[in-house]
Amino acid sequence: MMHSEDDLLPLSALQHLLFCERQCALIHVEQVWSENLFTAEGRILHERVDSGERQTRNDVRTETAVALRSFRLGLSGKADVIEYHRDAQGNWQPFPVEYKRGKPKAANWDQVQLCAQALCLEEMLDCLVPEGALFYGTNRRRQVVRFDEKLRRETEEAASRLHALISSGTTPPARYEKKCESCSLLNLCMPKVAGAKKNVSRYLARILTEEAVVQDSLTTASDGKSSAGSIGESS
Ligand code: SF4
Repeated sequence: MMHSEDDLLPLSALQHLLFCERQCALIHVEQVWSENLFTAEGRILHERVDSGERQTRNDVRTETAVALRSFRLGLSGKADVIEYHRDAQGNWQPFPVEYKRGKPKAANWDQVQLCAQALCLEEMLDCLVPEGALFYGTNRRRQVVRFDEKLRRETEEAASRLHALISSGTTPPARYEKKCESCSLLNLCMPKVAGAKKNVSRYLARILTEEAVVQDSLTTASDGKSSAGSIGESS
């Protein structure tokens, strides 16, 4: 199935989906966002490579902050860095490089996101992108990732699941796990609290309404006092 331009979802949402479907729905359905130490570090690391520069050194041409899209996967986004390596025939072979805070993870979410970038490049440039690399902030090392059939299938399935989740418009219930402790939405999601199944936007709206009612009653009470005072003064 091919998606339309209006249908494209952020490529970065794949990471949210693979980390936790509830987190993904909170961010992309309910539009809830909260920055914590982990997201702040990631943002700063990305800002350093987000300058849209181009340079060529020997047989490697480098572009930063490259716009990507795939109508097949229904995704769009930006690659941190695309290197183009000149091969023996003089052709430039695209090679995506993604910068990540921290160290390599046990799960392969980063590989899936990088593979999605490769699939976008293949569709946009009509070429084959066999590998790319992840660069981790902690060990400052590159990890080469091969885009094999298994990873490609996993990436396509993740993109389909992402579209299904967003178009359902529903937020899955919370389930507390160890990973929740590093989740930027822990305080809003409240996975340990009974009732975490509730829609967070509605919960926040209710809290704000309750606060407004309290504020209103306080204002009315103080208006009442001051008007009683002015009657007393005039008589
Ligand atoms: S706190 Fe846990 S359940 Fe809630 S969004 Fe984060 S990872 Fe998911």
